[in-house]
Amino acid sequence: MSLLEIQVCLFNATSDSNEVIFIEECPECSTSLVRKDGEAQHYCPNTESCPPQVSGRIEHYISRKAMDIAGMGSETVQLFVEKGLIRHPGDLYSLTFDELIELEGFKDKSVQNILDGILQSKEVPFERVLFGLGIRHVGATVAKKLAKHFGSMFALAEASIEEITAVDSMGEVIAREVYSYFRSEKNAMVLDALVEAGVQMEMIQTEESFTESPITGAKIVVSGVFERFSRNELKDTIERYGGQNVGSISGKTNYVVAGEGMGPSKLKKAESLGVPILSEQDFIELLGL
Ligand SMILES: [Zn+2]
Repeated sequence: MSLLEIQVCLFNATSDSNEVIFIEECPECSTSLVRKDGEAQHYCPNTESCPPQVSGRIEHYISRKAMDIAGMGSETVQLFVEKGLIRHPGDLYSLTFDELIELEGFKDKSVQNILDGILQSKEVPFERVLFGLGIRHVGATVAKKLAKHFGSMFALAEASIEEITAVDSMGEVIAREVYSYFRSEKNAMVLDALVEAGVQMEMIQTEESFTESPITGAKIVVSGVFERFSRNELKDTIERYGGQNVGSISGKTNYVVAGEGMGPSKLKKAESLGVPILSEQDFIELLGL
């Protein structure tokens, strides 16, 4: 359950039958509520400017399991939203000492604590940044799996619904939420601000986690079916040797590992961009497996 969802059914205290009354408008912003197929709850669809949703997203972002920004609680977030200082998590990084010290009740020390906490959040690992975005159905565990599998926000943003569903026990509902998150202009703006701020957008490879190899640091697209490896094994092998799995071929791709049945359009794209294409055998030889 996401923090952004507002439960709007009220129990009628006067009725013996505990009859549930549904209200039709958001009590905060008066937008007509909607219900998604197959879900019990009604939602306010005004995600962009419904005040509790705006502060809810930021409160989730700064929470302990996400970015753990100390010195800032719900009330502070609500105040900053109300004053128009922040509209999304990306705005946190442009807050200044001068604008915060103007606020009533804020002393040098508390302002400095907030700014220090925001600064330190730039070191928080990518999996927690991903969790902090508050994508529906993406809890800490799902975020961790997605972060580990895709390696970076950019790779995840490019992933198709099928590629997301292919990740360990990821359901279609989650995959669709993730996919559509990255296709919203508003979210792209938030992500741009976070990138600009220098927040972690990819997994940091620690030295022990991979073996140095000719593919270390390379961005690799896997396509088709293989004999010796399943696709997941191949992707794991790439990660173990320090490569990064990416979803689609671009000018930044270093290799395509092509199996049986790679699509002709992918092949054409790789060729036109001059991306080296490795067969399964080439890949095995390159790594000396
Ligand atoms: Zn609302």
